[in-house]
Amino acid sequence: MDAPLLRFERVSKSYGAAQPAALSALDLNVARGELLTLLGPSGSGKTTTLMLLAGFELPDQGRILLEGRDIARLPPHRRGIGVVFQSYALFPHMTVAENVAFPLEARGIPRTERAARVARALEMVRLPAMGDRRPAQLSGGQQQRVALARAMVFEPPVVLLDEPLGALDKALREEMQHEIRGLHRRLGLTMLYVTHDQAEALTLSDRIAVLAGGRLRQVAPPRAIYDDPADAFVAGFVGENNRLPGRLRALADGVCTVALDGGGDAPARAAPGLSPGDACLLMVRPERVVLDAPGGLPATLAEALFQGDHIRLRLALPGGAEMVARQPVGTRAVPAPGEAVTIGWQAEDARAFRAAPVTV
Ligand code: ADP
Ligand code: MG
Repeated sequence: MDAPLLRFERVSKSYGAAQPAALSALDLNVARGELLTLLGPSGSGKTTTLMLLAGFELPDQGRILLEGRDIARLPPHRRGIGVVFQSYALFPHMTVAENVAFPLEARGIPRTERAARVARALEMVRLPAMGDRRPAQLSGGQQQRVALARAMVFEPPVVLLDEPLGALDKALREEMQHEIRGLHRRLGLTMLYVTHDQAEALTLSDRIAVLAGGRLRQVAPPRAIYDDPADAFVAGFVGENNRLPGRLRALADGVCTVALDGGGDAPARAAPGLSPGDACLLMVRPERVVLDAPGGLPATLAEALFQGDHIRLRLALPGGAEMVARQPVGTRAVPAPGEAVTIGWQAEDARAFRAAPVTV
């Protein structure tokens, strides 16, 4: 395998002794040409990771290697990394072309070459005719494209994007996601993309790194994050998941039975390290829950909501637990509220995780 383009080695950062670490011993590799997303809730350390990489913050510990060279203590302008922030941070008094030319000017690129590169960068983000306008004369989506062009114009080895689509409405966000993926593919750019939006991360990424509380919980392709989350946090943060507390009963070949706290037994694949007798959380996705399952759990339908492409069922279990199931439209008569049903799932479709929060 190729050496990674970018490598975080045990990188830690704290903003003060009284505060918990913003980032704890981060180990992460980014391959050349990869689009890697940092995904996590607010305050999980995503922006800190980008700031350390761009050079606006210094790590307390650890090394940050770009093409094998430790850059953690170089000033920002010597790192050659392109950055796009949520607020586009375009210079309002400059034209679009002047904005895009700015990083080239700062690097002393001669005027004629500057003009050619700016034209190429604006072409790339599909704004070839907009060079003479001011940012205020563009839509939000167009401004964000200019910010992208400015971050890419000096052909940096890595482009960092910190929630760049956060200010856009849903339709525009989806269009820009498509645009960013296209740019990434066409230009073979290496991108580190920050978002707190799990759907965006699933759509865009080659791989997703999930952060919580300054710790890396899992790094894997979107499909593996969704189908095979490493812990209960990742399982709950990416996509929707039901959580049923219980105790692990029998375990064989990684498949277990969970005695649910609310009563009844249910099957799951057990996370590594769990043993019979351990308190655990059984997690199963709404689309994996089936009705009329032989040997399943008794439940009562609380509510059925028509969602267009599926029906969303809220189910009450004995013992007070609630679950959500998705039923494809037209496969079965929709139960009426108050009706008794039997629910179940395949062991392969559910996971039993350690109940306590995972600490590394
Ligand atoms: P995210 O981008 O995932 O929302 P951040 O990296 O911005 O998270 O923040 C991680 C933690 O560090 C948070 O608890 C935040 O309050 C704290 N933090 C971030 N920047 C600073 C700063 N400049 N000074 C003090 N604390 C900070
Ligand atoms: Mg942030």
